[in-house]
Amino acid sequence: MKLLITGCAGFIGANFTEFILEKYPEDIVVGVDCLTYAANAEALAELKKNPRFRFYKVDICDSYSIEDIFLNEKPEIVVNFAAESHVDRSIADSSVFVKTNVLGTQVLLDAARRHGVRRFHQVSTDEVYGDLPIDSDDSFSECDPLRPSSPYSASKAAADLLALSYAKTHRLSVSISRSSNNFGKYQHTEKLIPTVILGMLSGKSVELYGDGRNVRDWIYVTDNCSAIDMIIRYGEPDIYNVGANNCLSNLSIVKKIGEKLGCDYEIKYVSDRKGHDRKYAVCADKLKSIGWQNCSNFDLALSDTIEWYKERIMSKNVNS
Ligand code: NAD
Repeated sequence: MKLLITGCAGFIGANFTEFILEKYPEDIVVGVDCLTYAANAEALAELKKNPRFRFYKVDICDSYSIEDIFLNEKPEIVVNFAAESHVDRSIADSSVFVKTNVLGTQVLLDAARRHGVRRFHQVSTDEVYGDLPIDSDDSFSECDPLRPSSPYSASKAAADLLALSYAKTHRLSVSISRSSNNFGKYQHTEKLIPTVILGMLSGKSVELYGDGRNVRDWIYVTDNCSAIDMIIRYGEPDIYNVGANNCLSNLSIVKKIGEKLGCDYEIKYVSDRKGHDRKYAVCADKLKSIGWQNCSNFDLALSDTIEWYKERIMSKNVNS
């Protein structure tokens, strides 16, 4: 199978590309990424060693270059990871979020439609549902309404709706995965888990928004990769939540990392993020019904992730 994977140099896109190339020795991956600050040079260099990986440094909003890639490569499946992904940046300036996350998705959808791809998979987020009260035991299902809180999640919700409109209007085979917070190697150091690891190792105080009680459901990136793989190969053209039932407050995450690193640290509580969502939790039963399982042990996966960053810090090879 030939897959076109956008955002292949970013955190999840790079892990997914590695996952596909390792699991399917016959598959070819056409990678597209314009290499923003969030791209991971180490991940891309590793991918480029594989003869079944071809890379295009192209912006997904550039419709002419995207058309050329579809013409030349004739991908069967498109998996769109390319996005601006950091909520804080979207609060400071949402323009590039609308451009990449919405217009970029539209460019890809049009190319996919014109070239008759077998499946267009849109990588979305649980943040499109908005948040839950902090003490709630509820979780969002795929039928829940979209109530995004941040410009980032609003741009992702817009892309989901656009993709679904192409499914209905143009009969494009569209699937969408809405995953909870990922962690693992290649994640940019602006995100919570890498920030905390780096902060603790460099003796800086760890900054937490508000009271630190905000809850996220953490999934190891490999489990999200296996979920997307399952959806594109065995799933219906439909929406699937992806979650691991590892709901932890930001403060608990910090404490866990502190215990694992065994170092002294200080927590500094800073003014809360504007519109900060209190809790995310999704029900992944639909995905489980097609055979997916969350396989990783959270503590072991967190330890592996910490080790990965520690090694890079020792060799001063981390993005920041
Ligand atoms: P990331 O920010 O680490 O990587 C994004 C990649 O997209 C980068 O390599 C960047 O260079 C590329 N990119 C950005 N704009 C582009 C453009 N206009 N054209 C081409 N390439 C472009 O993001 P991530 O954390 O790997 O997230 C990937 C996808 O998964 C995103 O769509 C995000 O919304 C979604 N998601 C992420 C998480 C998470 O916890 N990280 C959770 C749920 C959903």
